[in-house]
Amino acid sequence: MRVRFWGTRGSLPVALTAADTQEKVAQALVAAGGRRFASIDEAREFAARDLPFAGARTFGGNSSCVEIEPGGDEYFVCDMGSGARPFGGHVFARQRGRPAVTNVFMSHLHWDHIMGFPFFGPAYVPGMKIRIHGCHEALEHAFRRQQAPPSFPVEFDQLRATIEFVRLRPDTTTEVSGVRVTPKLQHHSGDSFGYRFERDGKCVVYTTDSEHKLESAGEAQTFADFFRDADLVIFDAMYSLADAISVRADWGHSSNMVGVELCQMAGAKHLVLFHHEPANNDAAIEALLHDTRKFAQLTRDAPLQVSAAYDGLEVEL
Ligand SMILES: [Zn+2]
Ligand SMILES: [Zn+2]
Repeated sequence: MRVRFWGTRGSLPVALTAADTQEKVAQALVAAGGRRFASIDEAREFAARDLPFAGARTFGGNSSCVEIEPGGDEYFVCDMGSGARPFGGHVFARQRGRPAVTNVFMSHLHWDHIMGFPFFGPAYVPGMKIRIHGCHEALEHAFRRQQAPPSFPVEFDQLRATIEFVRLRPDTTTEVSGVRVTPKLQHHSGDSFGYRFERDGKCVVYTTDSEHKLESAGEAQTFADFFRDADLVIFDAMYSLADAISVRADWGHSSNMVGVELCQMAGAKHLVLFHHEPANNDAAIEALLHDTRKFAQLTRDAPLQVSAAYDGLEVEL
């Protein structure tokens, strides 16, 4: 399996500002220390190898949209945040005019998770098929409503793809085109659902917009069971631990540290911090990643790899 991140920012898409970009260029010039580059490729190599992530790149970007490529002809994607726009471009580029089937799995229906759908190009093309899976009763209503007047110029019924809505049941495993999919109810305003995807002995868990309080050992255990032996856990780490237990308690999100604890309880291999707080700049997210790696090393029973998601990250399992 391969996982591709198209949108990784929580609550609202963000873009680098002119000042952010200027700061990165200035920092890079200082880091280069007057060194001369024979070609642009040499300079690119320096940027990739010698600059910190926040110095040369950005976490992004678009709101939640994560593609899971299980192998096979059909596309699998979690959430339709603004990352659905570049994901749609990827589908077109791969298909070269051939029709495609896209299986969408919705964590919940908050705006940052559906806002990209009206910009998902394949929805406009006859012959394309889109199956939108979710556990919420209002699943179809939420997609239709955001394209109803006066909110959007193209109404849902004007879309030319064949679009189906498929209701899934929490804690019930369904086979979708060769992939075993199990949703789980999570704490979040209006409820959210995590998904466990399994195929050929590989497992990915997508768990965003979920507040883990860990006050009850029983509840922590049910999530550890849900994450059990996962190769990859994509985890809502919107807040630092300090914020999550103080000013932002009950805001419906989790912290990096809780992610480490649950992954260690579960024997998961790789934790990806996801749904980044929009107010955090690249340096703040990189610092959060650094703290999380240190914590994972201090407390580890088994090695846990930790990454921070960014738009464009690809992970091969
Ligand atoms: Zn969200
Ligand atoms: Zn939400």
